[in-house]
Amino acid sequence: MTTHGPRLDEIYEKSLDCVHCGLCLSSCPTYLATGRESSSPRGRVYLMRGVHEERVPLAGLASEEAFLCVGCRACETACPSGVQYGSMLELMREEVTAAGLRSGSARTLERFALRHVVPRKFILRSVVGLLGFVSRMGMDRFVVSTLDKLSLLPESLRHAFGLMPDIPSRAERKRLPEFTAAVGEKRGCVAFLSGCVMHEIFPDVNRATVRVLAENGFDVLVPAEQGCCGALQAHSGDADTAHRLARHNAAVFAKHSVDALVTNSAGCGTALREAESWIGEDGRALAAKVKDITEFLDEVGLRVPETLPKGKRLRVCYDDPCHLIHTQGVAAAPRRLLEMVPGVELVAHANADRCCGAAGTYNLTQRELSNEILHDKMDALAEAAPDVITSGNPGCMMQLRRGASDRGMSALVQHPVELLATFYPTAPKND
Ligand code: SF4
Ligand code: SF4
Repeated sequence: MTTHGPRLDEIYEKSLDCVHCGLCLSSCPTYLATGRESSSPRGRVYLMRGVHEERVPLAGLASEEAFLCVGCRACETACPSGVQYGSMLELMREEVTAAGLRSGSARTLERFALRHVVPRKFILRSVVGLLGFVSRMGMDRFVVSTLDKLSLLPESLRHAFGLMPDIPSRAERKRLPEFTAAVGEKRGCVAFLSGCVMHEIFPDVNRATVRVLAENGFDVLVPAEQGCCGALQAHSGDADTAHRLARHNAAVFAKHSVDALVTNSAGCGTALREAESWIGEDGRALAAKVKDITEFLDEVGLRVPETLPKGKRLRVCYDDPCHLIHTQGVAAAPRRLLEMVPGVELVAHANADRCCGAAGTYNLTQRELSNEILHDKMDALAEAAPDVITSGNPGCMMQLRRGASDRGMSALVQHPVELLATFYPTAPKND
């Protein structure tokens, strides 16, 4: 008799909840794109269980499907049996990675970046600064067009350049103040997870978040020692790094007595909320405080200024980040808040709750399927013809910006908190 490691045993136990009803299929973007049962939640649960029962080898289809899944967890929302698909997927990816079944230069680069660049602030800052310099000098365009003319431009590199966002200047990427005082009557004190990608690529979103919190009467703490949340590492099968990062953040935020730990990135929020399953008791204390910025403001009640700023009328689409709607259950709050912004007309688009194909590093590692999923998303958004597309996750914002640019759409892509910030035209004094 073969003995299995604890990961496969846990996957098997969880797989028993699946009753094969297929109700998850119509919400699965990879099933809808491919039509293959093996690329559906039910098919993947079957494969994972088959690996435990030794009917299916780990190498081959089972491991390919573990990484072809976008990890959107729409299947969890659809499943009437409460199958913990996200947890099974994470364990399966760890198993595949531990078995050495992920190789190749793209994988080596991903692993290096997620282990040694993303979690190290100084190195990440330097790399992002270098990319920004290269981009501002036009060197990226020169390299791409030269390689293209010589027919030497690999599709993967063309794709990666297409995804590269505009890099903010060093001054824009300066650290947030560790303390920002509440404006007006104080309602409480929150901590803010400033994140790694958000901090480097979307510093305006972070500043808008702190400002809106302060204008709503909350002191905002941004502890300098905080670090990367570990979400991208967990998605790529590197549980050790993800858990180490979660332990660090649990220790940092445990030092502060706050009403909430606010995030503005759906992926980070999910990682923090699920920290108990990674690191136990310390993770539970960390998770208990986590709130998405839209959820938090909706709960405490948005402070509406007496004199509302005048803005031009904007058609706004809100696209749900998978890791906000399917794992944190936040969908109504951002819509309610956006509807309160003067001049905003919230416009519905089809399948707003369906993945955009960003999914961490998925749009780099599985570009064909990612593009196909994005194509459907942009069809729905083009039909709604918005002036602004909003979404609360950095990966989704980058993916939607690329989708809008490829389509020639003029719509801006923003975080909901950037629109909320228009409520409060004056920055707090210590911002
Ligand atoms: S996580 Fe998303 S892509 Fe993966 S099986 Fe579930 S619905 Fe499909
Ligand atoms: S909906 Fe749930 S129980 Fe039904 S097939 Fe999908 S995962 Fe299994």
